[in-house]
Amino acid sequence: MAYFDNNSTTRPSLEVTEVIAHALGESWANPSSPHRLGSRIRAQIEKIREEMASSLGVSPECLIFNSGSTESNNTILSWAARNLSSNPSNILISQVEHPSVLEASMYYFPSKVHLIPVDRNGVIELSAFQKLLDQFQPVLVSLLAAHNETGVIQPWQEVARICKQRGVWFHCDATQWLGKMNLDGLNHCSSFSFSAHKFGGPKGVGALVSASPVHLIKGGGQEKESRGGTENFPGIQGMHIAWERNCLSLQSTHDHSEWKTNFEKTLLNELPGTMILGEGVPRLWNTSLLCLPDFDNLSWISRIDRLGHQISTGSACSTARAQPSSLAGAIGLDQSQSQRLVRVSSYIENTEQDWLDLADSFIAAYQQLLDERGVTGVITL
Ligand code: PMP
Repeated sequence: MAYFDNNSTTRPSLEVTEVIAHALGESWANPSSPHRLGSRIRAQIEKIREEMASSLGVSPECLIFNSGSTESNNTILSWAARNLSSNPSNILISQVEHPSVLEASMYYFPSKVHLIPVDRNGVIELSAFQKLLDQFQPVLVSLLAAHNETGVIQPWQEVARICKQRGVWFHCDATQWLGKMNLDGLNHCSSFSFSAHKFGGPKGVGALVSASPVHLIKGGGQEKESRGGTENFPGIQGMHIAWERNCLSLQSTHDHSEWKTNFEKTLLNELPGTMILGEGVPRLWNTSLLCLPDFDNLSWISRIDRLGHQISTGSACSTARAQPSSLAGAIGLDQSQSQRLVRVSSYIENTEQDWLDLADSFIAAYQQLLDERGVTGVITL
């Protein structure tokens, strides 16, 4: 029985929790303090910054530690509104961005946000993107690397290349990419964001990598004036351990695509009418977004939970709000279909047996739901 909600958050390993506990107990001094206790922590933060920057192929000054992707995405958009033009100009973002890009864009660039359409798989249409570039001459383009609900991979490298050619700032929300795919090419983005808890690190810590100095939070001048606030050293150290284990040269060892494909095949056979979102296009190896043939997603999730597996309706952010995310409408799902969406997302520790057991749980849950409907006569979606 296993956890399959890793796109929402991953379980930190024992090594990560031990490092954090140790740092909380021993390395609690303020890294900005002038004494040796503080200076030692400062030196460790700078060493971690150098190592992470080097594996990303960027210089250490470009990497700003912060609370994670929501803050990073807001930072870039707020900074862009203030600095990339005197009067907010146009920006382009995809229709399926995470709310931390979508809503921050609407806030910082009111009525200047233009949406890049996606096809039925949720992939942006490059020809439409090129036309929008010509039409609106944006100061910034933002596109996520991989979608949190479908796992669908966007052509972000191509968009980065086009933006570079045109001198347009390109921001990439790489939150679901790091820890699952390799790091190549991220240094061609003008900026990108990530959160440690998506790759086995702690929550509330991550980084913004930016080619220019940017800031949102002013305060004590930390992070070279880019992000005020005393640094979260235990979090940064925990993130670094997870980074070493899960983000460096990982692709060949952790790819679950085959197990996932077999799981999907079983469901397509056993639960006729099931749809796999983004089935025909490249997706992250760990993610499957299913539109199930019958019953609402919360009924599925609660049955499968009782059978020992944690799965999700889609993004945890939209679940908390009890409203559909931008994805369902963008890819043309109707209301009934969007209420039958269930997301399965594995991570490195999941085994082939976990995927086989998960498929069995779906089949058992379906039988239970059908039996209950037979007894109560309640008609669900
Ligand atoms: N972008 C994407 C694509 C995400 O999946 C998430 C987390 N669901 C975020 C941004 C925000 O990350 P955090 O909650 O760690 O700030």
